Amino acid sequence: MRAVARMRSRETTTDPGEGEGIVLQLDRDLRHVRASEAALAMVGLPAEALVGRTSGEAGLPPEVVDPLERELRAAVASGEEHQFELEMPTSEGLRWLHLRLVPAGAEEGTPGCVTVMATDITARKHAELRLSAGGAAFRALVEDSPDPIALIDADLRVTFVNDALVRAGGRRASGIIGRTIGETGLPPEIAGRWEDAVRTVLATGERLAIDFRFTTPEGPRWFSARLLPEQEGDRRGERVIVACTDVTDRVNREAEQAALRRVATVVAREADLAEIGRVVAQEAALLLNASGSAVYRFESEDRATCVAAHPPAAPGSGEATAITLTPSTATGRTARTGEATCIEDYRAAPVDSSVREVLAAGLRSGIASPLWTRGRLWGALTAGSSRAHAFGPAEERRLAAFAELAAIAVANAETREELDRLADTDPLTGLANRRALTARLNGEVERARRHGHALSLAILDLDDFKMVNDTLGHQAGDAVLAEVGRRLTATCRAGELVARMGGEEFAWILPLSDADASVVAVERARAAIAGIDVEGASGITCSAGICDLSVAGDVDALLRRADRALYIAKEAGRDRVEIAR
Ligand code: GH3
Ligand code: MG
Ligand code: MG
Repeated sequence: MRAVARMRSRETTTDPGEGEGIVLQLDRDLRHVRASEAALAMVGLPAEALVGRTSGEAGLPPEVVDPLERELRAAVASGEEHQFELEMPTSEGLRWLHLRLVPAGAEEGTPGCVTVMATDITARKHAELRLSAGGAAFRALVEDSPDPIALIDADLRVTFVNDALVRAGGRRASGIIGRTIGETGLPPEIAGRWEDAVRTVLATGERLAIDFRFTTPEGPRWFSARLLPEQEGDRRGERVIVACTDVTDRVNREAEQAALRRVATVVAREADLAEIGRVVAQEAALLLNASGSAVYRFESEDRATCVAAHPPAAPGSGEATAITLTPSTATGRTARTGEATCIEDYRAAPVDSSVREVLAAGLRSGIASPLWTRGRLWGALTAGSSRAHAFGPAEERRLAAFAELAAIAVANAETREELDRLADTDPLTGLANRRALTARLNGEVERARRHGHALSLAILDLDDFKMVNDTLGHQAGDAVLAEVGRRLTATCRAGELVARMGGEEFAWILPLSDADASVVAVERARAAIAGIDVEGASGITCSAGICDLSVAGDVDALLRRADRALYIAKEAGRDRVEIAR
């Protein structure tokens, strides 16, 4: 508490008309004799704690007591009025007081010998402090600057703030000026950084910059503060000018770009949709300052599946679980309109089952951005917040940027799935091709070995197929092959796989079947093929070779031996099944 104790006037005018202001009377020993209500309220003491005691005995801080008693003694000694200014901690915070000390002669019959009349000049003092902050140019610049600016002295006390800082700080100037950095309401972590920076600037005369996040009345903002030693005025070098720039937009843009880059990296890596969904949801939730975010795939206008969510939903209640969409939720509305939707407050939304669920999950507002792929509404990227009105145009724009990447990921994933499918499919029959069969066979052999299960492989080849082509034409031959594919597919059971190995040769994996069981299955298939009658082709027969895993060491041996058995069947006159022994 630094007191500005300066004698101002020596006029001896006693003015008892101060009325019920802040009035104190003290005796020659500087003990309080009387105090007005306003005076007691200001010092925050009851009359009995003050009357009969000196200021020090009453517990006023030495920063107040010392200058006050010095001035009181001078006034009493000289018999002349003294005026001075004093900064004083009160129940209302730090206040600037103008004090008139009027000594009274004993002959006037007053019980005390000095009257103290105080006027609260805090507002004027702040204005003065502002004016003393530097030259006219500086003042003009600073007062109207949209950037928050403060002056801080060597005691780490704020001696000046402009309006922009008052607005950003969200408290009155009187709650900031005269206080130390730590007392201004800055979070301790930020206050500590300001204090260190101010000390460094004062010690070195160098400029410094610190970035910090602060929650203003308008919400959290990022500031970049530049600290420089004061260059003008008589207190040059004793104070530090702190000029803050609101860099929230820049920080947000950078964060957005970084988040989009991270998502783009995952998209480019061709990760699967669930993983991309997780990254998109996580980044979107963070960037939108949302409670959560999710990627939904629309099954219909009123059904959706959660592909990914952040934070990950509780098992069974979120991811991969179908939910019902009503038009009252952001996601539901987007599913119906294909457009971005924002629900500012679910408490104001028409109540239905979905809205009840949203509210039960602690969400107040929601936002959804459509995921369009190849002209089709595929789903939505959504975010929710526990706060009402959490999402505005900026959030809508950001979510749309993520949704665009997510939609690319969806299109990529679908293209990849399609390519994978094509790479594994025989175009004429729609059956798995040799590549797919080999891959599947490796897995099935491995599994059969691990569990000690049976496994058989059958290879079927149409008999004298060349004849069909030669007599009925290639197109009829194709039709027969396609029909053989359909009938084999209809014959095989779940867990089995039929593939076209090439030409008029087919393979059939029969997990859990030994050779004998496989013969029965293959005979069923042969009967089905015998029934074919397309484009004039009928009476089609085929030969088959079967090999059981128990007589083959590995996948290669299985294929080789089944093929060998087929050859034997052909040699033996066709239209039959042979088992590899
Ligand atoms: P075998 O009983 O010894 O198996 O006699 P085959 O005539 O069936 O055997 P071969 O291997 O000599 O001839 C197979 C024929 O299958 C030759 C070819 O014209 C025909 N073929 C192979 N792929 C296709 C196809 O995609 N479409 C049609 N229409 N015919 C095909
Ligand atoms: Mg053949
Ligand atoms: Mg053949």
